[in-house]
Amino acid sequence: MTFRIAVGGIHTECSTGNPALMTAENFRVLEGEALPKADYFSFLREADNVEILPLLHARAVPGGPVSAKTYQAFKADFLKRLKASLPLDGLYLAMHGAMNVDGMDDAEADWILAAREVVGADCPIAVSYDLHGNVSQTIIDQIDIFAAYRTAPHIDVRETMVRAFSMLVKSLEAGVRPGVMWAPVPVLLPGERTSTEDEPAAALYRQLPAFDAREGIWDANLMVGYVWADEPRATACAVVTATDVAAAEKAASEIALSYWDAREDFAFGPVTGSLEEMLEIAGRADTKPVILADSGDNPTGGGVGDRADVLVALMEGGCEDALIAGIADRPAVEDCFDAGKGAVLDLFIGGTLDDRSPSATATARIIRLDDPAGPDERQAVVETGGITIVLSARRRPYHNIADFTQLGLDPKAFRLLVVKSGYLSPELAPIANPNLMALTDGAVNQDIEALPNRRRRGPCYPFQRDFAYAPEPRPSKRWKAAHDGGE
Ligand SMILES: [Zn+2]
Repeated sequence: MTFRIAVGGIHTECSTGNPALMTAENFRVLEGEALPKADYFSFLREADNVEILPLLHARAVPGGPVSAKTYQAFKADFLKRLKASLPLDGLYLAMHGAMNVDGMDDAEADWILAAREVVGADCPIAVSYDLHGNVSQTIIDQIDIFAAYRTAPHIDVRETMVRAFSMLVKSLEAGVRPGVMWAPVPVLLPGERTSTEDEPAAALYRQLPAFDAREGIWDANLMVGYVWADEPRATACAVVTATDVAAAEKAASEIALSYWDAREDFAFGPVTGSLEEMLEIAGRADTKPVILADSGDNPTGGGVGDRADVLVALMEGGCEDALIAGIADRPAVEDCFDAGKGAVLDLFIGGTLDDRSPSATATARIIRLDDPAGPDERQAVVETGGITIVLSARRRPYHNIADFTQLGLDPKAFRLLVVKSGYLSPELAPIANPNLMALTDGAVNQDIEALPNRRRRGPCYPFQRDFAYAPEPRPSKRWKAAHDGGE
């Protein structure tokens, strides 16, 4: 027997403190046959007894809210393809979970609810999530299977997608319909304090496979949620996919309580402090490369990525032998391309996406121009007073070694490497000698208690501290109806 499974989704993370709305150009879109051919979805090609109906999958580097027009266009395309794929045995959605659409709350709920309306009540829906995604009752009510990353930095992206997809196949093959139980935890912490490389998150995530192994449990998850979107749904939670309601309630309660009980223990992994403090430590270091994370402007957390405050501080401090990678500034990149390699010019750097972002002026020499795939992908490497700066036309991270080597740069060759990042990526962390994290300002400022907090539901730690909590696990409406009616 062959099962017809449709695959699609939308995957991004949006800070409501970032004013630069995302549009279609920010997304990598896989449509139709291109979807299973992509590396990201290559596991779909290995599935036996399954016919894949590829829909639309749109994915973007985190950023500001998605423009309503862009979102509605993706949704319409996705739904059109979904309707054309009927009848279906199952639907798999590869989501992030922290998308914010301009003017809309709980955007993933809107997407998943629309999908449910197309496929009907009987079709199982499996979703995979980033552990920094937000879950709501509306989302839970529409789905049958849920799996989220168990690592941050995320090194189990593929495994997580395989977990969700395999549970869907298993459900169809066995003729067993699991359900989803969740237990919100009123805690919101930044990813930088909940990295699974550090305690207490490491131990909390290490316990999840033991929950999976329990009778009646298929997959146990702990969601940190996303703190930089001031939305009512923002919350941590436990989410369990199971066939046994009582076992799921117990597991969700225990996971939720374990996170609540640890709430005071989460701390930043690397040496962390103000930019001034971190630059002072960097100046004294006799090892290299010191890797300084400019955490408030981290594009992979939803930051704008156009701030020049660290550049200004380095220039004022007379720092030499430093590499800043990178600053998103399309006009500056275009100025460099107009001037040509080797030219010396006065550059205005920073603040082109968010006019609140600090900027700098520098007389710089153009070392390299990189034009791999048109104006959006252009980069320029410039040097001013011993500081090398990578300028990019679009918002993007420099978190992989190849991001540097493609520009002829060796990240280990500099005394100080500044990246716009929170916790360091799996490729940069091992070379940091040492790693420092500066609590810089920006759309993903780590001083979360100072964030606008008009719309989040309270009480929620650490915005409020003096309140009691007991987990209240809630099943999906679908599972509850099946359970109450059938068993
Ligand atoms: Zn994440």
